[in-house]
Amino acid sequence: MVVRPGWAIDRAGRVRQHPGMSTDRPSKILTAIDLDADGKRFGALVVPHSRNDSAWGSIRIPIVVIRNGDGPCALLVAGNHGDEYEGQIALRDLARDLDPTQVTGTVIVLPGLNFPAVRAATRCSPVDGGNMNRSFPGRAYGTVTQMIAHYVATVLVPRADLVLDLHSGGKTLDFVPFAATHRLTDKALEARAIAAVAAFGAPVGVVMLELDAEGMLDTWVEGLGKLFVTTELAGGGSSSVRSNRVAATGVRNVLKHMGILSGEPEIAAPSRMVDMPDERCFVAAEHSGIHEPLVELGDEVAEGQPVARIHFLDEPARDPVTYVARRSGLLIGRHFPGLVQAGDFLASVAVDL
Ligand code: CA
Repeated sequence: MVVRPGWAIDRAGRVRQHPGMSTDRPSKILTAIDLDADGKRFGALVVPHSRNDSAWGSIRIPIVVIRNGDGPCALLVAGNHGDEYEGQIALRDLARDLDPTQVTGTVIVLPGLNFPAVRAATRCSPVDGGNMNRSFPGRAYGTVTQMIAHYVATVLVPRADLVLDLHSGGKTLDFVPFAATHRLTDKALEARAIAAVAAFGAPVGVVMLELDAEGMLDTWVEGLGKLFVTTELAGGGSSSVRSNRVAATGVRNVLKHMGILSGEPEIAAPSRMVDMPDERCFVAAEHSGIHEPLVELGDEVAEGQPVARIHFLDEPARDPVTYVARRSGLLIGRHFPGLVQAGDFLASVAVDL
């Protein structure tokens, strides 16, 4: 199916127009970087941002283009959320290390997409509160976050054969390192995406259920029928030796899988492939207090097994509330901070594919 610019197919197969998304409104973002020339170039996407402390100011989003002739194009993204670090480290290393002669085709690297959030070490932008991964496909004349999303959606994604968006848990979540795709209406695309997830070579590969998919880069790219891989590589607002290694290897593995780098993916052990068939994979807090995890990430849990307790801060005489797994499977994600609020995500369980 041909989808007109400004329109997309959602997961239910419906064609939808996105308000504010029209290609007759060109992006206000400028860049001196040539996306089509051979070689390697470091540059910036310059987002106009007139404000109290800089009347004619702008925000510079780092971009690196590495091209060597015709071939597939991969768009590699990190810092979509500012407090997630493995991807930011892996893509900065890759961009410095890759020599254009090693590449067949094009690699476009955005190592810090929501740059104001990256600089502030926050999930969302301190400039406009924007959550980049709920802002796609953005708006040409919107907020800073919306303008960045619109540029990616309308200028960069159309060039890409594959988009790899590297996430981690940030300050509030923690995960077993995994690469992921989603259940897609296009089953051929879904199979290609699962193969790309396996090629990433993380300890776990997930067919993920998103509770809030609208506005995600994932949904936009998948709706255009393009290959999309995401990750959750750890969390807690930092990174580790292990999670950084998974990210660095995984990024190169995906480029090898696409034929952009030569050689076979380096896979120490095949990913354990798991599925999230329904919302019973999630446990959410209905109380506020101190969060006590009862199982470790990567543990096998049984349906009904306690996974966390919440202790009442102001009521030491009151017994804590116990939360149980609603499915049997692998504990792949958990709430990170010591305190939890009613409505927070507590834990997620995935089942073998
Ligand atoms: Ca994230």
